[in-house]
Amino acid sequence: MEPTEKKKIIFIINPISGVYSKSNIPEKIARYIDYVKYDYTIRFTQYAGHATLIAQQAVEEGYHVCVAIGGDGSINDVAQSLIGTKTALGVIPFGSGNGFATHLKIPPRNAEGALHVLNTGKTVKLDLVKSNLRYFVSNAGFGLDSSVARRFHHHKVRGLSSYAWAGLKELFFYFQPYHTTVEIDDITIERDFFLFTAFNANQYGYDFAVFPFTSLKDGVMDVIVLNKFRLSKLLYIVGCLLLKRPDLIKEAEQYRAKKVRIHGNKKMCYQFDGDSLIYHDDVTFEIVPQCIDVIVPEDLNAY
Ligand SMILES: [Mg+2]
Repeated sequence: MEPTEKKKIIFIINPISGVYSKSNIPEKIARYIDYVKYDYTIRFTQYAGHATLIAQQAVEEGYHVCVAIGGDGSINDVAQSLIGTKTALGVIPFGSGNGFATHLKIPPRNAEGALHVLNTGKTVKLDLVKSNLRYFVSNAGFGLDSSVARRFHHHKVRGLSSYAWAGLKELFFYFQPYHTTVEIDDITIERDFFLFTAFNANQYGYDFAVFPFTSLKDGVMDVIVLNKFRLSKLLYIVGCLLLKRPDLIKEAEQYRAKKVRIHGNKKMCYQFDGDSLIYHDDVTFEIVPQCIDVIVPEDLNAY
């Protein structure tokens, strides 16, 4: 039998991002990569946004697989350059929350397990969401989560408890709801928005999913809107969200949408895959169905 052609795979490592050390990842790659299947290269990023450029060069050089190592933010950087190309996205999840990878059942902070997925997995086409700012892979929106992401960015210690603490501080001392208008497909709503999040993948990370059924290949975003609520209801609301029962929250609205337009508002703070930014003008989210190849576990059925 003719030997099949080896695939070119590139691993992009940001040596300084995140709390979890990636210093032994090159050694793990050398130990666990399938040498029959792959010829591999490792590149280290040198500045913010460098991963996007490395991924673009990898596409031009005909790499079959481009692997992001890190959290949703790192995957976001790499994915920008792979949309609509023949180069597949691979993931070694090493972030704090790992929402996208958790949806796809790629084991977090387990290089050996993630390399096993790259060695034995299948390639599937997934949706991404395009905006006038950038694509997102996992979720994006504005309101409380974005303000928390902004505050969280300055935290030295990461992890769920640190995130929850940042959330409480934001909620009790700083956060003001945004009054704006949002068009969700054909529906227009004007509100004091406490939270507006559009989900492509099914969760924020940390296995914290809001909806029970979000799919990465169904051609729609799942949107949650949380209106102003009394702080005495906080525990109830968090409990309902943890149980994936947003329907039990009087102040919550759920939508499924192909396109969303958020009307600009002064100093609106957005988050895109956990990275926050301030933007004043209108923002459009539009689902791009099955526009990126991603390597997932061979036995993954529902996604
Ligand atoms: Mg979907």
